[in-house]
Amino acid sequence: MKTTFPLAGRRTAVIGAGVVGLATAYALARRGARVHLIDRSTGPAMGTSFANGAQLSYAYTDAMAGPAVWKQLPGLLFGNDRCFRARNSLDLDYFRWGLSFLRNATAGRNRRNTLDVLALAQASREEMDALLERHPIQFEHRVAGKLHVYYSAEAFHTARAMVELKQAHGVRQWLVSPEEAMGIEPALAGATGMAGAVYSPEEAVGDPWRFATGLLEILRRDYAVEASFNRRVTALRRDGQHWQVHSAQRTVQTFDQVVVCTGIDAARLLRPLGIRVPVMAVKGYSFTAPCGSRAPTTSITDTSRKLVFARLGSSIRVAGLAEVNEWDTTPEAARVRDLVDLARASLPQAADYDQVASHWAGLRPVTPTSAPVIRAASPGLALNLGHGMLGWTLAMGSAERVAAVLHHAR
Ligand SMILES: Cc1cc2nc3c(=O)[nH]c(=O)nc-3n(C[C@H](O)[C@H](O)[C@H](O)COP(=O)(O)OP(=O)(O)OC[C@H]3O[C@@H](n4cnc5c(N)ncnc54)[C@H](O)[C@@H]3O)c2cc1C
Repeated sequence: MKTTFPLAGRRTAVIGAGVVGLATAYALARRGARVHLIDRSTGPAMGTSFANGAQLSYAYTDAMAGPAVWKQLPGLLFGNDRCFRARNSLDLDYFRWGLSFLRNATAGRNRRNTLDVLALAQASREEMDALLERHPIQFEHRVAGKLHVYYSAEAFHTARAMVELKQAHGVRQWLVSPEEAMGIEPALAGATGMAGAVYSPEEAVGDPWRFATGLLEILRRDYAVEASFNRRVTALRRDGQHWQVHSAQRTVQTFDQVVVCTGIDAARLLRPLGIRVPVMAVKGYSFTAPCGSRAPTTSITDTSRKLVFARLGSSIRVAGLAEVNEWDTTPEAARVRDLVDLARASLPQAADYDQVASHWAGLRPVTPTSAPVIRAASPGLALNLGHGMLGWTLAMGSAERVAAVLHHAR
């Protein structure tokens, strides 16, 4: 056990069994808490964690809001950018979130937010390594390295400042020429018009769903964590020193403390308690296809088409598209086609694009700063949500942070 005081024996509900909830259950159970994980889905990681881009992107933590957003704003608002668009609405929350996001789009705030998330990512890597040393989990985990490919000389030039900033904080990341990038990853010979790339040799990949199912097995077997699926939590109510967790099945359970890890759906549970969280849905898509004749082994990000490619065994996972304020998880056929077309244009032989085995859409829970909300919200109630584009990368470090929040709140 990590420390046994003061969380030992505390009956703790962790609501949400995505990668963040599972990591949270682990951090708390290791401190001796009696954890009950509750999720409305049929199993773990069936929400945004299911088929994401498969990247453990510990070095590339650049905040979404930055000066580049101003140039993208017309395309974003009028919907004529295929990769990054918004569904406009008169909703006050959308307006409030949008203003806050734009306030973070200055160079200074972008740097600060990137470094905040970087610190969390670095802690996450350490926690992930420690977890896997203690409990090997099979999830196609591999330190693949990552190349962020730039097709515009201007954008490549701008990338330099961010790379230097992160290097000063211990990150191994540097600029490479197109020839050097092709030397690292021969599959890039299929990419045309490269201006250069940023290479991060320590980035990893893996299958988030297999990670989640493996971790749940360990939680049940070695840490006596109880898990209830098909149970939608409808309300949280304070009852003296305790919390009541009400579910759609009309069960009411009592806990000493509750951690809300419900990602994109947090507002519905928290609003009746007067707690607001600045989380916006940014819908994205992925597909998985067999490797093509020139499949990369290094992770590739195409920064102009906003795509990531990750090799998982004999398959390639491609993820991309960002639709701000889209709250429906149903994958639209036309957008799946867009993603396949963009991937084919980016790396024509990376995958067998005619044999797409599965496709998926998920909602990234994005905050204006790109940093998650990890805090105490009320006595015995803590939040760990809003992990945006990098929730799997940040899950293990976030879990340690929320455990520390509960520890100090005692
Ligand atoms: C296309 C795409 C690509 C991405 N690529 C990457 C990547 O490469 N690397 C990376 O690190 N991140 C990536 N992300 C982001 C990452 O997937 C998310 O940040 C992360 O999955 C969020 O995890 P979570 O546990 O907070 O949310 P979720 O996985 O959504 O988990 C929340 C859980 O809460 C449950 N829940 C909600 N409400 C209730 C309720 N009332 N009662 C009970 N249960 C409830 C849900 O069923 C769900 O299981 C990507 C996201 C997308 C969409």
